[in-house]
Amino acid sequence: MGIKENLDNIIKELPANVKLVAVSKTKPVGDILEAYLAGQRIFGENYIQELTEKQAQLPKDIQWHAIGHIQTNKVKYIASFVSLIHAVDSLKLLLEINKQAAKNNRVIECMLQIHIAEEETKFGLDFNECETLLKSNELEELFNIKIVGLMGMATNTDNSNQIRKEFKILKSFFDKIKSVSKSNIQITELSMGMSGDYKIAIEEGSTMIRVGSLIFGSR
Ligand SMILES: *Cc1c(COP(=O)(O)O)cnc(C)c1O
Repeated sequence: MGIKENLDNIIKELPANVKLVAVSKTKPVGDILEAYLAGQRIFGENYIQELTEKQAQLPKDIQWHAIGHIQTNKVKYIASFVSLIHAVDSLKLLLEINKQAAKNNRVIECMLQIHIAEEETKFGLDFNECETLLKSNELEELFNIKIVGLMGMATNTDNSNQIRKEFKILKSFFDKIKSVSKSNIQITELSMGMSGDYKIAIEEGSTMIRVGSLIFGSR
Protein backbone atom coordinates (compact mmCIF):
# COMPACT_ATOMS: atom_id res chain seq x y z
CA MET A 1 0.00 0.00 0.00
CA GLY A 2 1.08 3.55 -0.67
CA ILE A 3 1.48 6.51 1.64
CA LYS A 4 -1.85 8.06 0.64
CA GLU A 5 -3.77 4.84 1.33
CA ASN A 6 -2.01 4.43 4.67
CA LEU A 7 -2.93 7.99 5.64
CA ASP A 8 -6.53 7.55 4.50
CA ASN A 9 -6.88 4.40 6.58
CA ILE A 10 -5.78 6.23 9.72
CA ILE A 11 -7.71 9.44 9.07
CA LYS A 12 -11.02 7.79 8.27
CA GLU A 13 -11.27 6.48 11.84
CA LEU A 14 -9.77 9.50 13.57
CA PRO A 15 -12.13 11.36 15.94
CA ALA A 16 -12.52 15.05 15.03
CA ASN A 17 -10.63 16.24 18.12
CA VAL A 18 -7.52 14.13 17.45
CA LYS A 19 -4.65 15.50 15.35
CA LEU A 20 -2.33 13.29 13.36
CA VAL A 21 1.39 14.03 13.41
CA ALA A 22 3.02 12.13 10.53
CA VAL A 23 6.42 11.07 11.85
CA SER A 24 8.81 11.25 8.91
CA LYS A 25 12.19 10.71 10.57
CA THR A 26 14.72 8.91 8.34
CA LYS A 27 12.29 9.09 5.39
CA PRO A 28 13.16 11.04 2.21
CA VAL A 29 11.54 14.37 1.30
CA GLY A 30 9.78 12.62 -1.60
CA ASP A 31 7.77 10.57 0.88
CA ILE A 32 6.86 13.67 2.86
CA LEU A 33 5.76 15.45 -0.31
CA GLU A 34 3.57 12.49 -1.18
CA ALA A 35 1.85 12.75 2.21
CA TYR A 36 1.61 16.54 1.79
CA LEU A 37 -0.07 16.16 -1.59
CA ALA A 38 -2.52 13.75 0.05
CA GLY A 39 -3.45 16.60 2.41
CA GLN A 40 -1.24 15.99 5.46
CA ARG A 41 0.19 19.20 6.97
CA ILE A 42 1.66 18.22 10.36
CA PHE A 43 4.96 16.35 10.31
CA GLY A 44 7.14 15.22 13.19
CA GLU A 45 10.91 14.78 13.20
CA ASN A 46 13.34 13.68 15.92
CA TYR A 47 16.72 14.86 14.73
CA ILE A 48 17.41 18.58 14.48
CA GLN A 49 19.72 18.51 11.48
CA GLU A 50 17.33 16.32 9.53
CA LEU A 51 14.46 18.61 10.49
CA THR A 52 16.20 21.78 9.29
CA GLU A 53 17.27 20.17 6.01
CA LYS A 54 13.78 18.93 5.24
CA GLN A 55 12.09 22.18 6.26
CA ALA A 56 14.27 24.08 3.79
CA GLN A 57 13.24 21.84 0.90
CA LEU A 58 9.51 21.43 1.52
CA PRO A 59 6.37 23.63 1.29
CA LYS A 60 6.29 26.42 3.85
CA ASP A 61 2.79 25.72 5.11
CA ILE A 62 3.94 22.47 6.71
CA GLN A 63 3.70 22.56 10.49
CA TRP A 64 6.86 20.96 11.81
CA HIS A 65 6.79 19.32 15.21
CA ALA A 66 10.01 18.39 17.01
CA ILE A 67 9.00 15.18 18.78
CA GLY A 68 12.26 13.80 20.16
CA HIS A 69 14.51 14.78 23.01
CA ILE A 70 16.29 18.07 22.17
CA GLN A 71 19.66 19.24 23.37
CA THR A 72 19.64 22.84 24.55
CA ASN A 73 22.34 23.91 22.12
CA LYS A 74 20.26 22.74 19.13
CA VAL A 75 17.17 24.86 19.77
CA LYS A 76 18.55 27.81 17.80
CA TYR A 77 18.47 25.84 14.54
CA ILE A 78 14.69 25.29 14.61
CA ALA A 79 13.43 28.35 16.51
CA SER A 80 12.54 30.32 13.38
CA PHE A 81 10.02 27.78 12.10
CA VAL A 82 9.14 24.94 14.50
CA SER A 83 5.46 24.98 15.39
CA LEU A 84 5.43 22.66 18.41
CA ILE A 85 8.09 21.00 20.57
CA HIS A 86 6.71 17.81 22.17
CA ALA A 87 9.38 16.57 24.52
CA VAL A 88 10.38 19.39 26.86
CA ASP A 89 11.55 18.03 30.18
CA SER A 90 13.47 20.80 31.95
CA LEU A 91 13.28 24.45 32.88
CA LYS A 92 16.71 24.87 31.32
CA LEU A 93 15.35 23.79 27.94
CA LEU A 94 12.29 26.06 28.32
CA LEU A 95 14.57 29.01 29.07
CA GLU A 96 16.54 28.37 25.90
CA ILE A 97 13.42 27.89 23.76
CA ASN A 98 12.08 31.15 25.16
CA LYS A 99 15.33 32.97 24.39
CA GLN A 100 15.53 31.68 20.82
CA ALA A 101 11.83 32.29 20.20
CA ALA A 102 12.25 35.89 21.39
CA LYS A 103 15.15 36.39 18.96
CA ASN A 104 12.77 35.32 16.19
CA ASN A 105 9.84 37.39 17.50
CA ARG A 106 7.79 34.26 17.98
CA VAL A 107 5.93 32.32 20.61
CA ILE A 108 6.83 28.63 20.41
CA GLU A 109 4.32 26.08 21.66
CA CYS A 110 5.71 23.34 23.88
CA MET A 111 4.53 20.21 25.61
CA LEU A 112 6.03 18.71 28.73
CA GLN A 113 7.13 15.11 28.39
CA ILE A 114 5.99 12.91 31.23
CA HIS A 115 7.70 9.61 32.01
CA ILE A 116 5.05 6.90 32.12
CA ALA A 117 6.88 3.84 30.75
CA GLU A 118 8.59 1.13 32.73
CA GLU A 119 11.83 1.56 30.83
CA GLU A 120 14.48 3.59 32.63
CA THR A 121 15.94 4.97 29.43
CA LYS A 122 13.04 7.13 28.30
CA PHE A 123 13.23 10.85 29.00
CA GLY A 124 10.60 12.81 30.85
CA LEU A 125 9.41 14.37 34.08
CA ASP A 126 7.52 12.62 36.84
CA PHE A 127 4.21 14.10 38.02
CA ASN A 128 5.77 16.02 40.91
CA GLU A 129 8.49 17.53 38.76
CA CYS A 130 5.89 18.55 36.19
CA GLU A 131 3.67 20.27 38.75
CA THR A 132 6.64 22.03 40.31
CA LEU A 133 7.74 23.28 36.92
CA LEU A 134 4.27 24.49 35.95
CA LYS A 135 3.93 26.40 39.20
CA SER A 136 7.44 27.88 39.27
CA ASN A 137 7.87 31.63 39.30
CA GLU A 138 10.58 31.52 36.65
CA LEU A 139 8.09 30.16 34.16
CA GLU A 140 5.92 33.25 34.46
CA GLU A 141 8.65 35.39 32.95
CA LEU A 142 8.83 33.35 29.75
CA PHE A 143 6.70 35.34 27.33
CA ASN A 144 7.88 33.58 24.17
CA ILE A 145 6.80 30.07 25.03
CA LYS A 146 3.36 28.61 25.54
CA ILE A 147 2.84 25.28 27.25
CA VAL A 148 -0.09 23.64 25.50
CA GLY A 149 -0.05 20.09 26.76
CA LEU A 150 1.62 16.90 27.86
CA MET A 151 3.36 14.15 25.91
CA GLY A 152 4.06 10.58 26.93
CA MET A 153 5.32 7.28 25.54
CA ALA A 154 4.05 3.96 26.83
CA THR A 155 6.30 1.01 27.51
CA ASN A 156 7.42 -0.78 24.37
CA THR A 157 5.50 -4.01 24.96
CA ASP A 158 2.91 -6.28 23.36
CA ASN A 159 0.91 -6.18 26.57
CA SER A 160 -1.96 -3.87 25.69
CA ASN A 161 -3.23 -3.86 29.27
CA GLN A 162 0.06 -2.40 30.40
CA ILE A 163 -0.04 0.24 27.65
CA ARG A 164 -3.64 1.13 28.45
CA LYS A 165 -2.84 1.45 32.14
CA GLU A 166 0.00 3.87 31.41
CA PHE A 167 -2.13 6.01 29.09
CA LYS A 168 -4.90 6.07 31.72
CA ILE A 169 -2.44 7.31 34.34
CA LEU A 170 -1.24 10.09 32.04
CA LYS A 171 -4.80 11.08 31.11
CA SER A 172 -5.84 11.40 34.73
CA PHE A 173 -2.80 13.56 35.48
CA PHE A 174 -3.62 15.64 32.40
CA ASP A 175 -7.18 16.14 33.66
CA LYS A 176 -5.82 17.21 37.01
CA ILE A 177 -3.31 19.80 35.80
CA LYS A 178 -5.50 21.19 33.01
CA SER A 179 -6.75 23.65 35.61
CA VAL A 180 -3.30 25.27 35.90
CA SER A 181 -3.80 28.30 33.74
CA LYS A 182 -1.43 31.24 33.28
CA SER A 183 -0.82 33.56 30.37
CA ASN A 184 1.74 31.11 28.95
CA ILE A 185 0.15 27.85 30.14
CA GLN A 186 -3.01 26.45 28.60
CA ILE A 187 -3.05 22.70 28.72
CA THR A 188 -5.39 21.33 26.08
CA GLU A 189 -3.34 18.77 24.15
CA LEU A 190 -2.39 15.26 25.15
CA SER A 191 0.21 13.77 22.79
CA MET A 192 0.16 10.00 23.15
CA GLY A 193 0.01 7.07 20.78
CA MET A 194 2.32 5.78 18.03
CA SER A 195 1.88 3.21 15.22
CA GLY A 196 1.59 0.26 17.60
CA ASP A 197 -0.64 1.80 20.25
CA TYR A 198 -2.47 4.82 18.81
CA LYS A 199 -5.90 3.15 18.90
CA ILE A 200 -5.55 2.47 22.61
CA ALA A 201 -4.25 6.03 23.10
CA ILE A 202 -7.33 7.50 21.39
CA GLU A 203 -9.65 5.36 23.51
CA GLU A 204 -7.83 6.71 26.56
CA GLY A 205 -8.15 10.37 25.60
CA SER A 206 -5.25 11.29 23.32
CA THR A 207 -5.71 14.50 21.29
CA MET A 208 -2.55 14.08 19.19
CA ILE A 209 -1.08 10.85 17.83
CA ARG A 210 2.45 10.55 16.44
CA VAL A 211 2.46 7.91 13.72
CA GLY A 212 5.45 7.01 11.58
CA SER A 213 5.90 3.45 10.33
CA LEU A 214 2.20 2.85 9.71
CA ILE A 215 2.27 5.73 7.17
CA PHE A 216 5.76 5.58 5.70
CA GLY A 217 6.71 1.93 6.25
CA SER A 218 9.23 0.48 8.66
CA ARG A 219 12.52 2.27 9.28
C1 LIG B 1 9.67 7.56 16.04
C2 LIG B 1 8.71 8.15 16.99
C3 LIG B 1 7.32 8.02 16.80
C4 LIG B 1 6.70 7.21 15.68
O1 LIG B 1 6.95 5.86 15.86
P1 LIG B 1 6.21 4.76 14.95
O2 LIG B 1 6.23 3.54 15.79
O3 LIG B 1 7.00 4.62 13.70
O4 LIG B 1 4.83 5.23 14.69
C5 LIG B 1 6.49 8.66 17.70
N1 LIG B 1 6.96 9.38 18.73
C6 LIG B 1 8.28 9.52 18.95
C7 LIG B 1 8.75 10.34 20.10
C8 LIG B 1 9.19 8.91 18.09
O5 LIG B 1 10.50 9.04 18.33
